[in-house]
Amino acid sequence: MGPDDEEMRAKAAAGSVHERWVSALAQQAPLEFARVVYGLGDCAHGRLDTTVALAVRQAQEQGSQVTRERAEQRARAYLPVLGRAHCPRCWVLHGAKNLLQMTPARAGHGLETARCAHCDAEYVNAP
Ligand SMILES: [Zn+2]
Repeated sequence: MGPDDEEMRAKAAAGSVHERWVSALAQQAPLEFARVVYGLGDCAHGRLDTTVALAVRQAQEQGSQVTRERAEQRARAYLPVLGRAHCPRCWVLHGAKNLLQMTPARAGHGLETARCAHCDAEYVNAP
């Protein structure tokens, strides 16, 4: 086994971490769609101070048209790129591609968090 093998194994390991993230984040998209639906429902019923309602109102104040249809379309179209994943929440809510910042949470535990600096969403990836 030479240095080339080690390099290849390291690359494969890094690749699988990113692949795990891509599928984990893709699973978040329908959940973010559900949040938008709850947020719109809260707004419609005058519950303006819930977390989900505030997220919808903030997006609207920034000029985004937030509708159930658009959020659903975006949730279906959400496709994170390996190593350059964008925030599913920002994407589903207002079609913005904000890159997630990946941080290893605890060395040796394989836990990583992905955080969006724009909306403060945080996703944890446990193997
Ligand atoms: Zn975000």
